[in-house]
Amino acid sequence: MESQRGKCEVVMAGSAVDGGGRLVAPAAIVVRDGVVEAVDAPVRVGAVSGATIRNCSGCVVVPPFVNAHTHLDLSFLTDLATVYQEQGFAAWLNRVRCDRPESNEDLCAAVQRGIELSHGGGVGWVGDIAGRRSMVSFEMLSKSSLEGVSYLEVFGLCGHHQAATVEFLRALVPQRRGGVQLGVSPHAPYSSGPLSFEAAMQRPMPLTTHLAETSEELEFMQHGGGPMRQLNDSLGLISPTWKPPGTHPVPWFLDRIPSDRTQSISAAHVNLIEPEMVDQLSQKGVVVMYCVRSNAFFDSARPQPRVHPWRAMMKAGVRVCLATDGICSLDRSDRLSPLDDARVLWKQGSVDAQTLLAMLSVHGLAAMGLAIEKALLQPGAKNGLIGFEVTNPHLGFRSVLDHDVSPQWIVPPVDSVIA
Ligand SMILES: [Zn+2]
Repeated sequence: MESQRGKCEVVMAGSAVDGGGRLVAPAAIVVRDGVVEAVDAPVRVGAVSGATIRNCSGCVVVPPFVNAHTHLDLSFLTDLATVYQEQGFAAWLNRVRCDRPESNEDLCAAVQRGIELSHGGGVGWVGDIAGRRSMVSFEMLSKSSLEGVSYLEVFGLCGHHQAATVEFLRALVPQRRGGVQLGVSPHAPYSSGPLSFEAAMQRPMPLTTHLAETSEELEFMQHGGGPMRQLNDSLGLISPTWKPPGTHPVPWFLDRIPSDRTQSISAAHVNLIEPEMVDQLSQKGVVVMYCVRSNAFFDSARPQPRVHPWRAMMKAGVRVCLATDGICSLDRSDRLSPLDDARVLWKQGSVDAQTLLAMLSVHGLAAMGLAIEKALLQPGAKNGLIGFEVTNPHLGFRSVLDHDVSPQWIVPPVDSVIA
């Protein structure tokens, strides 16, 4: 890795933009020892003594992206589209459950692959779901260029499974190493019971879950039947006394959140929601992680594609970020970046580039309870810069969305271990 110590450079960019609404075109970005010192019009920055000039005049320069919901340990699990299309969601989920890596060695290899795919996608922060309660993701992330949260995933729907999960959660010690924090993730309301969720919410750690993803989940929660019931039964996870909550998963989840909670709470998907629940989400401060391509993947076997209510959510004050989910429901396996989800929404129209950039950056940090300033172009930013070589860089992030160009790291994160 090239050392950044004692180095000062001025990056001359076609434009510099961030998720806080900043657009400077053209821009001069002063970077000393890998840390942003100033961002402004070149004429205002002037000459910087001892600095080298770097010509990036054909580039749009942005801080790295945030992918607040992914599964790095599934990075080798590709080609599952046929299972879903021919056998449905429960079969697909079961396949993921069975095929995910088990040994430490395989987990390390998969997480490492996920880290590299994220880096290649211009991602600087991840919210990673660590399966099998494994600390491998936490350990590996803390040694990588990525920051964020490693959420330990737990299940435990009822009976002794739920009791064991509660015991595990009560003994869990919050941890932080470098820019990586340990979090908790009860998997979903159809696989983790009320006591599991409540025990997780008692921990002073970031929390996330999968919520209101499919109609099968709603059927199971409301009536206790359908493919989710069959899956739970086949795995022996339902005790004879279990009864369905009889409610929609969104209010069920929100009711579990204590009024005095201090940790960040986020929910992936939230595809199926009644209009009156949107305000409740907003009041509880839950950040929604919209996985655009993952949704499209699961919609591919449905007669009608669903319209995600993210616009109504944002209008009601809910923070919504873009996230990828695992690579096993994506359309490409060469990188892991919510930028590709933003480009899908951009092609659909009726959204401005600035909103998408906020959904790719500051809202994602909020999902993990991290300071949103980390992803802003301002003095002290130290998580690196990425650039996009485009034909109209002065147009800012619009040009990035218009062109299918890959991100390039212009400045690596400080203390990065990936060259
Ligand atoms: Zn997920």
